[in-house]
Amino acid sequence: MNRNLLEIENLRKYFPMTAGVFRRKVGEVKAVERVSLSIKQGETLGLVGESGCGKTTTGRLILRLIEPTAGKIFFEGKNIFELNSHDMRKLRREIQIIFQDPFSSLHPRMRVHDIIGEPIRFHRMMDSTQKINRRVDELLEVVGLSPAYRNRYPHEFSGGQRQRIGIARGLAVNPKFIVCDEPVSALDVSIQAQVLNLMEDLQEQFNLTYLFIAHDLSVVRHTSMRIAVMYLGNIVEIADSDELFERPMHPYSEALLSAVPIPDPTVERRQILLEGDVPSPANPPSGCHFHPRCKYAVDRCRSEIPPLRAMKKGIEGHQAACHRADELELQSGKPLEVV
Ligand code: SF4
Repeated sequence: MNRNLLEIENLRKYFPMTAGVFRRKVGEVKAVERVSLSIKQGETLGLVGESGCGKTTTGRLILRLIEPTAGKIFFEGKNIFELNSHDMRKLRREIQIIFQDPFSSLHPRMRVHDIIGEPIRFHRMMDSTQKINRRVDELLEVVGLSPAYRNRYPHEFSGGQRQRIGIARGLAVNPKFIVCDEPVSALDVSIQAQVLNLMEDLQEQFNLTYLFIAHDLSVVRHTSMRIAVMYLGNIVEIADSDELFERPMHPYSEALLSAVPIPDPTVERRQILLEGDVPSPANPPSGCHFHPRCKYAVDRCRSEIPPLRAMKKGIEGHQAACHRADELELQSGKPLEVV
């Protein structure tokens, strides 16, 4: 069993809301609340939820692009929020990000060899231009692009090719962990599979660990070994990928799954349409934050926050934050029917 590379404990991030000339604090947006999870070396964890649920903020906290309100993130056993500047610089090499939008994440006036070579120069990994150029050519080949493209600008490439350049830039400093922030959602469906396959090959080749952020469960199903479902700043369910698809315990996961197309015309699945919008994280509902949209909500759900906890009848590691999960467990561990 691989060791945990990353562990998140009770992570919170509240952004202040200000008003008036003096920017007086009038409230806070609870972007991330009580998030705890761990990711093993070589694993891909999918983090899924609607926009604004806190998944990108969680990714930015892991990269330490922002500071948390509370909580800890351990990378190889060290709390990243307590690192000194020397260790932090080292960490910036070990954790990289692949951005969602390959159109805006590459500098339009930089040539490909400068884009990919920049992190190598910044971290002083190589001292001669020749060595850097050789490394850039090698990286272009690794991501399936010809080294002959090295002098081109980003606008001369297609969306899929630009994302490959973004991946090459991420790999340039030999990272151990990559936050993939919706890496294929801006690409045509026909290109998405190619980029996902490439990322899978690279994971094997370089023993990479991924946090794969997506709003679409069908994208993470085949890339992720485990999936965490996030709603309004909280993890509401986490399980092995197949287990989650076969037996979702949380009504929100159930609704997300019902929207995933099944590639079999003989299987009928009715989509569960959630009523209402996602509530504001500045004023989340009491108790279970999902209760205003949940068709199973009872009184207890309006007052009591359901903790994320292991399911007795679920496969090991299956956790859900739902009072109704108690009842489901008593039903002989049958798969929850998606109606
Ligand atoms: Fe629905 Fe209650 Fe479960 Fe929340 S705790 S998801 S409101 S049944």
